Amino acid sequence: MKIVDIRATTVAMPLEAPLRHAGGAHWGRFIRTIVEVVTDVGILGYGELGGGGESAEAAIRGLVPYLKGHDPLQLEQLRWKIMNPTASLYNNRLQLHAAIEMACMDAVGKFLNIRACDLIGGAVREVVPFASYLFYRYPGEHGGGETTPDEIVAHARALAQKHGFKTHKLKGGVFPPDHDIATMEALAAAFPGHGLRLDPNAAWSVEQAIRVGQAIEPLNNDYFEDPTWGLEGMRRLRQFVRIPTATNTVVVNFEQLAQSIRHDLVDVVLLDTTFWGGLRQAHKAGTVLETFQYGASVHSSGELGIQLASMLHLGAALPNLSFAADAHYHHLLDDIIVGGKMNYRNGAMAVPTGPGLGVEIDRDKLKQYNAYYREVGGYAYDRDPGRPEWHAMVPESRWADPTQR
Ligand code: MG
Repeated sequence: MKIVDIRATTVAMPLEAPLRHAGGAHWGRFIRTIVEVVTDVGILGYGELGGGGESAEAAIRGLVPYLKGHDPLQLEQLRWKIMNPTASLYNNRLQLHAAIEMACMDAVGKFLNIRACDLIGGAVREVVPFASYLFYRYPGEHGGGETTPDEIVAHARALAQKHGFKTHKLKGGVFPPDHDIATMEALAAAFPGHGLRLDPNAAWSVEQAIRVGQAIEPLNNDYFEDPTWGLEGMRRLRQFVRIPTATNTVVVNFEQLAQSIRHDLVDVVLLDTTFWGGLRQAHKAGTVLETFQYGASVHSSGELGIQLASMLHLGAALPNLSFAADAHYHHLLDDIIVGGKMNYRNGAMAVPTGPGLGVEIDRDKLKQYNAYYREVGGYAYDRDPGRPEWHAMVPESRWADPTQR
């Protein structure tokens, strides 16, 4: 089997409501690039990339001359062709590689009639538990408008009833730290026995983060995610807060992973099948964590069904996945895969059973949401439509006012 072409199509997928985070907001849609590796035997492999537009599509297509004639099964060669360290100094192709590796694993799986997880050792589980991913939201056409602790609890309750979540993650850092402490305490009171996580996207100074961490120590925390910025900040916080720490911002590549482990800086690393350079790379990082007995969890970067499938295959194959995975998926209104959105059951999702990633593109939906992208365009993740004059600072000092919606 050989690669003969690679296609890239940008889509915009509407959300129930705009999601607020410490660095800005998701303005009511996610922008993704759907990547298709075309092979000489008629098999298409699917991948997905965060963001999109002409430049992202051109970057993917720019790799066609590198990869024309490449056998998709040769995954290690693929990594060196796209991400060799010298070229990477000038061309950061990590996420391009992630999408193409995902597509190649999909194509190979379809060719050999095996699943993507079989290419990384096979499944040790067939269902992957997920956390409810709770955001303070602006009002949207399909709900939203949660700001107070009670409103977040009501939102979490509705999600738990619908999807069966037993773990709740709050995206904090939008309002002053005491507001997040109150919301976490309200969630703990509403869901005794459920796991909790607070992730303010590193908006706090080390000292602010220590204060919040000590305040929520008595709760049933899985971990305290990116409370402050930098590996050294995480190291300092860890001396004062008795909650395992987690990150998806300061350990996102193998060099940082080595430093974190060598100097014992962070407890749990959230693996992402795009940020880490692909499904196989995320799995490799997970096995390094297993060796050194650090925790592994699964990060969500606002994925549609193709990347979600890659996360399910990662979750299937990773022996040391002891936490519910993250997904923004329940905030989406639709998907571009055949059959529509995948379903949660009892707070978990089944690993797809078909060959490759196990999902197919719905061509009508791809066209529909590509047209929607051309209509509405992208958005600036680090800008907040409700606070046009505001820019994110680290550490934050100008919090949103919870009395102002
Ligand atoms: Mg995070």
